[in-house]
Amino acid sequence: MIIFKSINKLNKYIENIDNIGFVPTMGSIHNGHNSLIKKCKKICKKTLVSIFVNPKQFNNKKDFRNYPRNTKKDIKILRNLKVDYVLLPKYSDVYGSKENRSIKIPKINKILCAKYRPGHFEGVLRVINQYLIKLNVKKIFLGEKDYQQLKIISNFVRKRFNIKVVACKTIRHKNTFALSSRNQLLIKEDLYILSEIFLILKSFKLRLKKNFKFKNKIYDIKNLICKMGVKLEYLELRNKHTLSKNCNETNFKIFISYYYKNIRFIDNI
Ligand code: AMP
Repeated sequence: MIIFKSINKLNKYIENIDNIGFVPTMGSIHNGHNSLIKKCKKICKKTLVSIFVNPKQFNNKKDFRNYPRNTKKDIKILRNLKVDYVLLPKYSDVYGSKENRSIKIPKINKILCAKYRPGHFEGVLRVINQYLIKLNVKKIFLGEKDYQQLKIISNFVRKRFNIKVVACKTIRHKNTFALSSRNQLLIKEDLYILSEIFLILKSFKLRLKKNFKFKNKIYDIKNLICKMGVKLEYLELRNKHTLSKNCNETNFKIFISYYYKNIRFIDNI
């Protein structure tokens, strides 16, 4: 495994290597990330993982400061997974150049996380753009856990690059809450709240699949979740293809964002 701290140096090394798969991350590697890496290893000749906690995608400085960072442990895990290349870029490397300054997301995307975290996806796209402009990769692996991000990056990549986006299923803790780096900020005893929320949403989803008229019950579900000491940001039913509110029992997904103990969690079911 070779570790690079500069995008340009990495690029020089890999520019003539064919079929490289890319897994961008913010580190604190967990089994959700591992599943992307394993899928990448299966279908690509070489695997590149980046770790960069991107300040521009945090709209709250405290959240950025508190985001878990475990680079040493991450490198150990990535070595065990037999990843070929790791990129740990510096801030100036990602944001130094002019070409990625004016990225905007379409107005139609200003829903869900984009509505509550202004500038978040623009920050995500600036990093992705910088990587993809410079790096010779064939495929990029993204998790459905961040479903809106997956959609926004997929549209962006389709328009600008000849790179395939590979969507990967959400990995969950014992069939309940989605694994996330932020889970590490909670003590074990608190994680049960996350499980409870997932189970409430799962049973709501089953009811809706049988009869979509139950969609108005979403107000009861919101109340129930709020009573659990959680600050709900949004809970919405949306079309899983277009993310519009125009959905029915065959094509809907439930999207949630909430704060628990001042930590922000998102999921989609
Ligand atoms: P992050 O480090 O949180 O920015 O995530 C890096 C990539 O891993 C993104 O494409 C995420 O969607 C994906 N990811 C994070 N958690 C999970 C999970 N539990 N299951 C599948 N993919 C995930």
